Amino acid sequence: MKRIDLHVHTSASDGTAAPETVPELACHAGLSAIAITDHDTISGYERACGPAAALGLEIIPGIEISTRFNGSVHILGYFIDPHSPHLLPVLNWVVLDRDERNEKIAARMRADGIPADYPAMKARFGDVIGRPHFAELLVASGLAADIRDAFSRFLNKGCRYWLARHFIPIEDSLRIILHSGGVPVLAHPFQYNLDDTELRDLIEHCLDYGLMGLECRYSGYTPEQISYLQKLAHEYSLIETGGSDFHGERKPEISLGSGTGSLCVPYDLIDTLRDTASSLTRYKERKDP
Ligand code: AMP
Ligand code: ZN
Ligand code: FE
Ligand code: FE
Repeated sequence: MKRIDLHVHTSASDGTAAPETVPELACHAGLSAIAITDHDTISGYERACGPAAALGLEIIPGIEISTRFNGSVHILGYFIDPHSPHLLPVLNWVVLDRDERNEKIAARMRADGIPADYPAMKARFGDVIGRPHFAELLVASGLAADIRDAFSRFLNKGCRYWLARHFIPIEDSLRIILHSGGVPVLAHPFQYNLDDTELRDLIEHCLDYGLMGLECRYSGYTPEQISYLQKLAHEYSLIETGGSDFHGERKPEISLGSGTGSLCVPYDLIDTLRDTASSLTRYKERKDP
């Protein structure tokens, strides 16, 4: 059976694998197609396109946006137009907001004697710098044993180096993805600690703003969890998607394509996704200035 992975991060955001190397990793993992879904940037997708074409690997432009809704909920967008005038200014805004927060984190670290040089971090890691990069610095400085330790003692909400950043309202992120020709999908639905009623409320709210898919298969999800999500997807006429949330060495327990071991995302999910995206083309054309 042909397999795919629709949730992949590269070093363009907080993954560690360079976008140019991800297509080769995907081929080695036996995958027929991948979607690059970096946080807040499409540059990883653009850098991976050439190498993917050379290997005959199908690659889909994607995005993952952290949004505001009773805490933070992640929305994936598939088949977005990477040059969309609706998307790029928003991503630029998110990066500027990250910069503002990150400068403050770095300053607080420097005040504590940790060598946090933010311009140097930007030069090394690119535009989308997040807490995982600061976690690595804490590990390198000997203050934390590993990334998990760095988050739990220093970077989680309420800790010394946690500072808020601003999230786009969930309604706006759904609209922006739709206007850029993308199919909006609710990411990793079990990450938000919601019971059945609360998850349904979230889905029903998002449906009003154009949600079209549900990430039913995800690293670590049990067969029972997957079939529960598939039932929800069916009930709400949402497309089923699936992916590992690969982050390279920053989440070493997650492998491309197979997640924590048992993940299997069949190729035919891409066909449904593509059909849905092409049905959006006319909508997008109407919205383009
Ligand atoms: P940021 O958007 O910069 O605030 O960072 C959020 C990112 O940090 C998420 O996308 C996760 O990949 C990562 N993250 C959050 N909490 C943890 C944790 N406890 N351990 C490891 N990584 C985490
Ligand atoms: Zn991430
Ligand atoms: Fe996520
Ligand atoms: Fe992700």
